[in-house]
Amino acid sequence: MDLNIASIETLLVPPRWLFVKVTTRSGLAGWGEAVLEGRAHTVATAIDELSDYLIGKDARRIEHHWQAMYRGGFYRGGPILMSAISGLDQALWDIMGRSYDEPVHALLGGRVRDRMRVYAWVGGENDEAIIESAQAAISAGFTTTKMNLLNGPLSIVDSHRKIDDAVTTLARLRDAVGNKLDIAIDFHGRVHRPMAAVLIDALAPYNPLFIEEPVLPEHLEFMADLRRNTAIPIATGERLFSRYDFKRLLTLGAADIVQPDLSHAGGITESRKIANMTEAWDIALAPHCPLGPLALAACLQVDAISHNAFIQEQSQGIAYNQANDLTRCLTNPEVLNFDSGFVKIPDGPGLGVEIDEQYVRTVAKSGHRWRNPLWTHEDGSVAEW
Ligand SMILES: [Mg+2]
Repeated sequence: MDLNIASIETLLVPPRWLFVKVTTRSGLAGWGEAVLEGRAHTVATAIDELSDYLIGKDARRIEHHWQAMYRGGFYRGGPILMSAISGLDQALWDIMGRSYDEPVHALLGGRVRDRMRVYAWVGGENDEAIIESAQAAISAGFTTTKMNLLNGPLSIVDSHRKIDDAVTTLARLRDAVGNKLDIAIDFHGRVHRPMAAVLIDALAPYNPLFIEEPVLPEHLEFMADLRRNTAIPIATGERLFSRYDFKRLLTLGAADIVQPDLSHAGGITESRKIANMTEAWDIALAPHCPLGPLALAACLQVDAISHNAFIQEQSQGIAYNQANDLTRCLTNPEVLNFDSGFVKIPDGPGLGVEIDEQYVRTVAKSGHRWRNPLWTHEDGSVAEW
């Protein structure tokens, strides 16, 4: 079979995704998800530039192509280039798996687990809505949730009233669900250094499963200080883009849980290495995935082969995903079934999901121009979202 790369195509799929299709001369094709949320067109251009190198090459030399795309441009890393490499890497692994009629995890050593725990996002306009959303998650079989808790900006030093509000919300939620639900809290980088320790200490009595991005990832040194001063596991990684970024995190001792995004951190090739690195530090893996079905399928391939993976994010029910069902783009939507709070490790060829190409091409005609919300503080200055 001629598996030299013949063409590379990107499709802007609503609500905010970018799919990439790599087709070989034999006609065998693979799909990946390359999006950086809010910068989909920029990543599509980066893929177009990388295609100058990839066209005509043997699709199976994935590691070599990864190195060429990363090192070959002299400038490396960062969200745009690494998201482009990520989507292409996923598509090449999809081709590799399909060429052997095996799931990707089988080619990477075989799965260490049969199914993966997944979590649901909960949220709402007020405490009642949040509790209702958490009870719906429990009814749907989920045992773990994540929430933003802070539904608005927090200034670099802010009123303790906002801390009190956040604590009240978590206390009411804990009271409503007892210990039936593990609750992770994502600070989303919205909290600055002076308020982070105050908030972590105030939430600790309600036993959060973990605290995510307690400060922005550019402040890993301060994150390490926070971690040393709390018993609650600290998670981060969605805005780190390679092993080299994670090396800094590990050296500083800034996290207990790493969250590489399979569509931003260099794809399957790089994320499995990140998983291996962190295993040696006894750090847990929880791949970040508020994206579409291809990104989630890629995550599950890495979860399958990573002993330290303990939970998988998925985007069903997230507000910014509701314009499109997670599985609507698939002809085998049953593979992403979360009924029991787990998803079975896909055992189909490649990534294990089958794209409904006719549907994807139809919705990609209108595409999207999804942008991150821009928040401001009371005084009009820009706030973290
Ligand atoms: Mg997050």
